Amino acid sequence: MPELPEVETVRSGLEHLVVGRRIESAEVLHPRAVRRHIAGPADFAKRLRGRRFDGARRRGKYLWLPMDDDALLAHLGMSGQLLVGPPDEPLSPHVRVRFNFADGGPDLRFTDQRTFGHLLVAADGAQLPSVIAHIAPDPLESAFDAAWFSGRLKSRRTGIKRALLDQSLISGVGNIYADEALWRTKLHFARAADRLRSGEISRLIAAVREVFAEALTAGGTSFDSLYVNVNGESGYFDRSLNVYGREGEPCARCGTPIRRDPFMNRSSYTCPVCQPRPRNGRW
Ligand SMILES: [Zn+2]
Repeated sequence: MPELPEVETVRSGLEHLVVGRRIESAEVLHPRAVRRHIAGPADFAKRLRGRRFDGARRRGKYLWLPMDDDALLAHLGMSGQLLVGPPDEPLSPHVRVRFNFADGGPDLRFTDQRTFGHLLVAADGAQLPSVIAHIAPDPLESAFDAAWFSGRLKSRRTGIKRALLDQSLISGVGNIYADEALWRTKLHFARAADRLRSGEISRLIAAVREVFAEALTAGGTSFDSLYVNVNGESGYFDRSLNVYGREGEPCARCGTPIRRDPFMNRSSYTCPVCQPRPRNGRW
């Protein structure tokens, strides 16, 4: 599943490859890909014809491409990809929407094997599409307010990892980067959010930014062979993960075998020595 660094890699690719170009036509090859565009596939295609992409923006795992006052909004879901390539290349069976450009150059293909992703045209969404306005800024955005986040955290009676995954508090942090940031900060995922000290919260925010920045430098994580960036290249950040997916391997700090625990139908990876479990969930 693409996480924030992967989505940012895609955003940056789109900025270089499609911004400034005029759309000749958008072909919806599978209606499920535009199911959230309530007026339907024909309206979706009509609203894109002749428009020009003015930019490529992101909040958490949502991308949007402003077109005057409106925007094309994209969420990649579990397996979505935005691929830019030669228009004469045969269409793979998973291409759901194809954008052809007036300049006759490389086309843009939204491919999505599992069809959990979606695209829609957000009217007046150039600044921030209203359908994602409830999502908190992500820690790489200038709009992210660390003091506000810290204040909200102290009012939550929940574990810190649940809070990190709550998109109304902070967006873009998925399972992988939550585990990595908690390991760096030596915090167990079950630590009570409302009992964290200010210094612990600051270090946690800094760690989230660090793991994102390192992943961006490396081109995004690839755990899922379905993820490729906008040019079709796989990311390769997985080699530098410290805990995620490393059950039984030695902690890079103290050598203790990494432990895996079930967490919200998924897994959490921790070092049992560096990140001691809080007694009875409150600490
Ligand atoms: Zn350790």
